[in-house]
Amino acid sequence: MKIDVGRGWYPLVLDAVLKISQLPDAWNARLRRADRMHGLLRVDVAVNLPDSSEELGDQTSTIGAIQRIARVVSMMTCEACGRDGRLRIGVRRSRMLCEDHACLVGERHPMDGLVSEIDRDRHPELYFRAEDADVEKAEIFRMWSEGIVPMRVVTDFLRIGRTDVYHAALEAGHGTGLREADPEEVRIVIEMLDPSRRH
Ligand SMILES: [Zn+2]
Repeated sequence: MKIDVGRGWYPLVLDAVLKISQLPDAWNARLRRADRMHGLLRVDVAVNLPDSSEELGDQTSTIGAIQRIARVVSMMTCEACGRDGRLRIGVRRSRMLCEDHACLVGERHPMDGLVSEIDRDRHPELYFRAEDADVEKAEIFRMWSEGIVPMRVVTDFLRIGRTDVYHAALEAGHGTGLREADPEEVRIVIEMLDPSRRH
């Protein structure tokens, strides 16, 4: 089971898992993967196919409903924090985010705010964009070091600690900026640069 979404969507994934657990034992249904597709939550379910075509139809529609509910609820839910969100369309990718976390998509695409769902036929240029998690991460670290995205948003969304953000930004050559230089942040950086000071 692979869960590749921000923690704002964990309750949606959990809801899908609970529904899946209530399906007939013979189906052996289990969540294979939860990720995002064009900004929406996608729930991939593995099953054993039943023998009768009647039960197969029943299985297909039941699992389809679970997937649809997850997708529709994700359309209103910030992937970073779980509060009310909407589709934010960036130049490079789209995400469901609340006002506070909207900065994560970076520079906005001209279509941002004009559509609530990316339609395959009407917006193929948005629909068929690659969703490379590593590229996105690298951009988020860069945006953090440039002061576009606050630390708490980065740690929320990527589910990592502050030290990891510093490491990643330094490794990528961005520097830490230390715009939010509270004593705790400074201590973390000093320890990172000089491990012998750790206590
Ligand atoms: Zn949010």
